[in-house]
Amino acid sequence: MAGDESPVQVGTDALRFSDELFQAVVEFVPSGILMVDEQGRIALVNCEIERMFGFARDELIGSSVEMLIPQRLTRQHRDLRQSFNEGPSRRPMGTGRELLGLRKDGSEVPVEVGLNPVTTDRGRFVVASVVDVTERQRAKERFRILVEASPQGMLMVDARGRIVIVNQTVEEIFGYSRAELMGQSVDILLPPGLRGHHEDLRMQFNRDPSRRPMAGRDLVGRRRDGTEFPVEIGLSPVQTDDGVCVLASILDIGPRKKVEEELRRSNEELERFAYVASHDLQEPLRTVSSFVQLLARRYGDRLDTDATEFIEFAVGGVSRMQNLIADLLAFSRVGTRAREPVATAADVVVGHALRSLQTAIRESGVTVVVDSLPTVMVDPGQLEQVFTNLIGNAIKFRGEAPPVVHVGAVRDGSRWVFAVRDNGIGIDPQFNERIFVIFQRLNRREEYPGNGVGLAICKKIVERHGGRIWVEPSPDAGSVFQFSLPAVPE
Ligand code: ADP
Repeated sequence: MAGDESPVQVGTDALRFSDELFQAVVEFVPSGILMVDEQGRIALVNCEIERMFGFARDELIGSSVEMLIPQRLTRQHRDLRQSFNEGPSRRPMGTGRELLGLRKDGSEVPVEVGLNPVTTDRGRFVVASVVDVTERQRAKERFRILVEASPQGMLMVDARGRIVIVNQTVEEIFGYSRAELMGQSVDILLPPGLRGHHEDLRMQFNRDPSRRPMAGRDLVGRRRDGTEFPVEIGLSPVQTDDGVCVLASILDIGPRKKVEEELRRSNEELERFAYVASHDLQEPLRTVSSFVQLLARRYGDRLDTDATEFIEFAVGGVSRMQNLIADLLAFSRVGTRAREPVATAADVVVGHALRSLQTAIRESGVTVVVDSLPTVMVDPGQLEQVFTNLIGNAIKFRGEAPPVVHVGAVRDGSRWVFAVRDNGIGIDPQFNERIFVIFQRLNRREEYPGNGVGLAICKKIVERHGGRIWVEPSPDAGSVFQFSLPAVPE
């Protein structure tokens, strides 16, 4: 029939459909929806509200919305509702305050509420969307505890450079109380001369926020009393309700610098002592050595075999001591005779080292394989010492198999790691650290000559260049000595 297809009926269907759709949407949005009339009576709730507050729908509909508010807050709520009704507008509720809801079981739930006035033909209502922020608050609390517990100074600064969080360590380092710092510009913690520059850096960070140490070598903080001190700072961007903030961890490195300085000074003194002692010892030793030899030459034919043997022991002892002193002197010179690192082609240096080892190479019949090697930042004379010692050891501590020594290098980030590999007698891993200590040896001098200074020199040289040296067992039963050195910056 034509009447069935009248526009009115279609309209009613459409209306019913959109009504159902509306109900479904309201029902299943992930936040709580609550509609309240002008008298404060609940007119509509969705299932998230039921879940959040623990009431069934029919307990809520028609009741006062105040049943969902802790008693101590209802008075305040009534006033606020009144003022909202007088000037209704779309807005979040209680900006800057934490809102609480009351559950059926009497417990409280932290919530965030957005308010929307709606006018229908049945009167004016307020639609409130309610979000349970328990989890978010827990996360915030955990964050706060973490920040507070950090032994480093922690400071959060908003996009405008205002301090929004500080921990106790910051109070201690800078001598300000928390109350004095909150809301202040972070500039207050900087020497006045750096403030303008810091502003630029902050802008830069905001444009490209990423986790990193703060640029610049000598960062300085300023205490409340105006004194300044060296700091180390790490920055992490943090997404907060108020936009991207910067979390800075601050370490007062004054004490560390002091210890480093003291250590450097006592090291220097020790080096000077070793240098002077070994230098000055050489002179009397030469006297002993030359007179013992003179004795042998001039009175040799008048001495019995015992006396001749004693003289040989004395000469042997003297020459060992001369070797020791020469090694000690070489060790102490690593620090005092050092040159600035320069870009150095390692294959040229290895070539020099092999030339000075040519006698040992010839006598041992060793095969030395050298890969193509990179250019590194190093004092070339010292790198030669390292290669001479390591390749020399690889030859000296050869085993039964025909000796093969392999020299190579691999790139590791901003450094190169060199390796000197042999198929010799190997090293018991329990001595991996000890062999780098001066005068420490694992073998009897009669079997393998040496003073135990070579690796100590290598370690000192490599560490001076900011690198590391270590040993590992080699797959072919011998040892691999490895050390890292800075690559040439691009
Ligand atoms: P030295 O060679 O004068 O003994 P080093 O400091 O060079 O002193 O080496 C210390 C000790 O480490 C050596 O005595 C030896 O026991 C062990 N060592 C060093 N290099 C090797 C190697 N390539 N293979 C086996 N042992 C080694």
